[in-house]
Amino acid sequence: MKINVQYSKASKAEIIFHIEVEDDDKIHPSPKYSLSKRKFSFTIPDEVNFEEIHPDHLALVSILVCHPFIGRRIVFPKPVSKKFFEANKIITRYVVENVDEDLEPWTPSKDSRPALAFSGGADSTAALAIMPANTGAVFLDRPLPLIKRTLYDKDAPHRACEHIMEIGYDVIKIETDLEYVRNPVGFPVDVANAAPAILLANHMEFDAIAFGTILESAFGAGHTNYRNYPTGSHYKHLGGIFAAAGLPFLQVVSGVSEVGTSIINRDSLIGHIAHSCMRGKWKNPCRNCWKCFRKLLLDSVVNNQKLSDEELNDLFKIKEAKRYLSAFPIKHENVLTYSTSKYIELFGLDLEEDNLMNLMTKRVRGDTLEVEWMAKYFPMMLDIIPEKYREEVKNKLEIYLQPMTKEEQELVLNWNMNPMLDDTNYQELHAKFSERLKNH
Ligand SMILES: [Zn+2]
Repeated sequence: MKINVQYSKASKAEIIFHIEVEDDDKIHPSPKYSLSKRKFSFTIPDEVNFEEIHPDHLALVSILVCHPFIGRRIVFPKPVSKKFFEANKIITRYVVENVDEDLEPWTPSKDSRPALAFSGGADSTAALAIMPANTGAVFLDRPLPLIKRTLYDKDAPHRACEHIMEIGYDVIKIETDLEYVRNPVGFPVDVANAAPAILLANHMEFDAIAFGTILESAFGAGHTNYRNYPTGSHYKHLGGIFAAAGLPFLQVVSGVSEVGTSIINRDSLIGHIAHSCMRGKWKNPCRNCWKCFRKLLLDSVVNNQKLSDEELNDLFKIKEAKRYLSAFPIKHENVLTYSTSKYIELFGLDLEEDNLMNLMTKRVRGDTLEVEWMAKYFPMMLDIIPEKYREEVKNKLEIYLQPMTKEEQELVLNWNMNPMLDDTNYQELHAKFSERLKNH
């Protein structure tokens, strides 16, 4: 695969990447998605000089968008530094063709600051709350899809951006269609949402890039098994090439669960701007999607506000939620375990009654599992925070959350849902719950 890049100031300042596919490239790397558009672009501020963008940064963006589709080799827009070249050797699937032995790797300026790949959602808003005040929040502004125009509402994240700007944060919105390279539309690599911040890194003086990656994703608490994030491939491979480009990962909420980010947002100055529903208006979630189901239930226990029977009943009527709840295990099931466990504790849920809330509580083990750890942070996350920011992040984090105790950390380290998945009692509960949901 060859990537060419073009800078145009015709109607607006734009960086356009062209993908040239070669014989051994993979148009359909997985049954789930394929290569669609062969071109993607970024609208950048007029004052950014295209020539100041380091070749390693153009290359890093190329990888983030094209990685799954690259066959035997990649030819970057410009030859990369030896350091960036070496870091890419960890990816054995393809080779980097063009390297300039004399090119100095990119290094941040003395007064540099961190960037956050900001989405306006709950996790990235919580991340911003515990980052330094001079953080550059870079918002990836996606064009509206031509079909399904009504589903995704741009209003909410834009309002969120405006509000944090008013509070005094530096927010930069960059328009890009990079998600259209993939069909179905989406990020080819999860950290591709950092692409705008990477292109602006030299101009905006960034030295690290933060994400809203939470405990469920990083350390596996939302999946079947624990995973050791610091030694895993995501951090090693992707984190490695980011670091080689002078922009190490700054995972400020990787030890914080969705419960923890909700607590941070409840208590922080900017938390109220967070918006996790992709469909509703700002501060007015659609109440009709899976995220709304999880969030409304979680918020009720985090804010100690009981839902009425009618509200609960409506939640279980959400079509998308029914689909997710019928999985075994459920995606981010731990969050439901927390919500239902707290529902018993705070609102005296009577488990004797035969209803959907009680069935779900038993199915997700809200009646048996220890859940306090989700309202605290997992200290191992600090080990992979660049030293420059470690102390400040820890101090800000502890305004909102306590570190997990040794015993609680063990619960994370030993997280394994397999015994439950193999247990016939839970298999029966799953079947009963799914059946009842279908008929609700
Ligand atoms: Zn929603």
